[in-house]
Amino acid sequence: MDIAVFSTKPYDREFLTQANVAAGSPHTLVFHEAALHPQSAILATGCQAVCAFVNDELNDLVLESLHRQGVHLIALRSAGFNNVDLTAANRLGIHIARVPNYSPAAVAEHSVALMLTLNRHIHRAYLRVREANFSLEGLLGFDMQQRTVGIIGTGKIGTHLARILRGFDCKLLAFDPIQNPVCLELGVQYVPLDTLYAQSQIISLHCPLTPETRHMINAAAFEKMQPGVMLINTSRGAVIDTHAAVAALKTGHIGALGLDVYEEEGDLFFENLSEHVLQDDVFARLLTFPNVLITGHQAFFTREAMLAISRTTLDNVSQFAATGKAHYEVSIEKLA
Ligand code: NAD
Repeated sequence: MDIAVFSTKPYDREFLTQANVAAGSPHTLVFHEAALHPQSAILATGCQAVCAFVNDELNDLVLESLHRQGVHLIALRSAGFNNVDLTAANRLGIHIARVPNYSPAAVAEHSVALMLTLNRHIHRAYLRVREANFSLEGLLGFDMQQRTVGIIGTGKIGTHLARILRGFDCKLLAFDPIQNPVCLELGVQYVPLDTLYAQSQIISLHCPLTPETRHMINAAAFEKMQPGVMLINTSRGAVIDTHAAVAALKTGHIGALGLDVYEEEGDLFFENLSEHVLQDDVFARLLTFPNVLITGHQAFFTREAMLAISRTTLDNVSQFAATGKAHYEVSIEKLA
């Protein structure tokens, strides 16, 4: 199939080309650096499939345009699909495929990297030592051993995180509408959300962004958390109400905040904006806190994950070309 691949960087092109060649070059990949939005959708002309990433807009307008151009399949190279209007896709008969399971380890390990960096102030120590400042003032951390960590969402990534943290001898609490037997075996204790908020010293988010989880971590939730709580988010930015987080950081109620995702990241992440004036005042405020650590949606970014994403994305397209149905389709019936 001819695939219009949006939001590509050199690394995307490298891994996707490699995967296509390894499979015998069944597809023609038409790479675009541009993100997918109503104005750029026209770039898909002549292609039957579109490959999109996390911040590409797949709203009604874009899907209508792709439909008119003869696109039948959107192959997301991500696990999350919150950026797709599934009702519109269903109405237009456009199939949506995703990569549900590429490397839970990549994201879980990045969550731990954020936790440990914030706890031991590695980001600050790195800068100090480079300036020959060897003072330890302000760098006091805590033992992870016997700390209570609350995991919200115990799917593939949350479960892998539980496995790692069990190695640290942490006490593990979880909230998920569906209890995962693997987590139960790991000694994770499922509790109501309010109990998790009240008892956890660290809270890590691993649920998808849905209407139910949008701004789930808001002012009311912060009030129920322990003073000095560490909050880690590698799921989707809008699970946290960022204004409420800034307010809780200002009072000191949040002790540390580690973010790999941000609710308005679409205008920022994946680009080098170092020559530009930052227009997002909320993001700029976040950057002023010494106890906030932000990475630009890189939790997935390991060699293993990129290989798996590229293979599964192209497998989805091949399967769709052969049978009219991709391996990992998102169906709105299943979500209802
Ligand atoms: P998954 O589908 O395996 O697990 C998600 C879990 O969340 C499920 O167990 C589900 O029952 C649970 N859940 C749903 N609604 C919930 C709610 N209201 N409260 C608590 N739990 C709820 O998904 P996964 O592979 O573990 O990925 C989790 C999320 O991580 C994805 O949806 C995606 O948004 C994000 N992600 C981020 C990156 C990154 O690079 N930062 C990479 C991959 C995935």
